[in-house]
Amino acid sequence: MDALTVAEVRTEVLADPSNPQLLVHVTTEDGMVGVGETWWGTYQPKSEPGTPVLPIAAMIDAVLAPLCLGRDSTDISGIWHHLERQTSQYGAEGIVSTAISGIDLALWDLLGRRREVPVWQLLGSLQHQRVPAYASLHWLGDVEAVRRDATNAIEAGFGAVKLHEADAAIVLGAREALGPDVAIMVDMSGRVDEAGALAFATKVAGADLTWMEEPIYPYDDHATLARVRAQVDIPMAAGENVFSVAGFERLLRSEAIDVLQPDLVKCGGLTPARAIADLADQHGVALCPHNFSLGPSLSANIAWAFTSEATRWVEVPWLSPGQEFPSDTLMPALADGHLIPPTEPGLSG
Ligand SMILES: [Mg+2]
Repeated sequence: MDALTVAEVRTEVLADPSNPQLLVHVTTEDGMVGVGETWWGTYQPKSEPGTPVLPIAAMIDAVLAPLCLGRDSTDISGIWHHLERQTSQYGAEGIVSTAISGIDLALWDLLGRRREVPVWQLLGSLQHQRVPAYASLHWLGDVEAVRRDATNAIEAGFGAVKLHEADAAIVLGAREALGPDVAIMVDMSGRVDEAGALAFATKVAGADLTWMEEPIYPYDDHATLARVRAQVDIPMAAGENVFSVAGFERLLRSEAIDVLQPDLVKCGGLTPARAIADLADQHGVALCPHNFSLGPSLSANIAWAFTSEATRWVEVPWLSPGQEFPSDTLMPALADGHLIPPTEPGLSG
């Protein structure tokens, strides 16, 4: 067997009541290991910790891992297309593309480690010397908790916070506490309809929001989102629930958004990322990668962000006091609220 051949693909569930993680370890015949990560699943407080990621882990363990064994680990595009073709009858989007993303990130990490370069150097040339990062707060539903977490994030070096709230009073309370110089985004996670989105936008008109994210459910109701966008002065953001390049084309053609938020752990990983960034460029929208991890997912987003001209912001999670991620990952270094290009090999920086 060639030293570069994939010898093992192994999933690792990091159980946590609020922030589970699913890591993917790819090992080659020579013993080198790359570590990827995929989506953390929907919040399921009544289930055993780690449960939300189990369906994705099963897709990797039972279907994708055997398809990778014996293949050249440096032929990432070849493996990606093989996995996509062999799983097409499951439906290419959703759990399949999410599972493929975890393996894809592990292969890019492995290649970076093998060549002893950060992954952004494998993707292209540096398009930014620094990229602004925003702290993404959990759903809190309480103005004092929002003020506490937002203030902590600003004190830790961020210049922007994203709230997950659907109550305009909480958003206005946060603006009052943070003052005029902090950028504030609001993610509504599809909790309102068209009328609710318009009413919310009217109430927060004085809050100078950087964007309003996914107000409407279903997430693929682009026509309704486009109508909302046409009627409000706040930029509209979406994309974390799009799972393919074709899906991003549909979203962008609908003229529903100003800010595109692909999530590399849902849309297939770094291999299709160039095509997605090119679409953002062509449609003149800001590329703002979505992420709620401090693991390989965040590192992959940072690598992609630095090599994509359309990048404007990168999302970094911010947890309340007493919460933490189960992996031993660290907050990335910030300089005046900005990320700087990683220097560590693979996705470890
Ligand atoms: Mg969101």
